[in-house]
Amino acid sequence: MAVDCLFCRIVSGDVAADVVAQDERVLAFRDINPQAPTHVLVIPREHVASAADLAEHHGDLLAAMFSMANGVAAADGRVETGYRLVFNVGPDAGQSVDHLHLHVLGGRRLAWPPG
Ligand code: 5GP
Ligand code: ZN
Repeated sequence: MAVDCLFCRIVSGDVAADVVAQDERVLAFRDINPQAPTHVLVIPREHVASAADLAEHHGDLLAAMFSMANGVAAADGRVETGYRLVFNVGPDAGQSVDHLHLHVLGGRRLAWPPG
């Protein structure tokens, strides 16, 4: 757990969140400011600051995160229509929380390229 990390505080239960899925390593909860009908954040329970810090030993953790993201999309009925999985990395990408999080967005047509 990192000091003063919002998402570590969600993992510990200090900060409430609308949790939709969880297992021993990964947690998924709805974004507080949703940008689409489905907007869920999938995070590792362990503190990893950003996707830029990922290394080969995170392989199993990443597989667990993507598996949970796909399950969340399926539970929201987004498999047929599709969905987007996004990691924002650093300031130009708009990363605002320095704890790794995979955005799951779906339920509307998403523009490409992103703004
Ligand atoms: P980023 O901009 O870093 O890629 O994504 C951070 C996301 O966290 C944003 O979409 C923002 O709305 C969401 N967020 C920030 N604070 C909270 C919070 O306290 N609870 C929840 N559920 N989401 C949050
Ligand atoms: Zn953290």
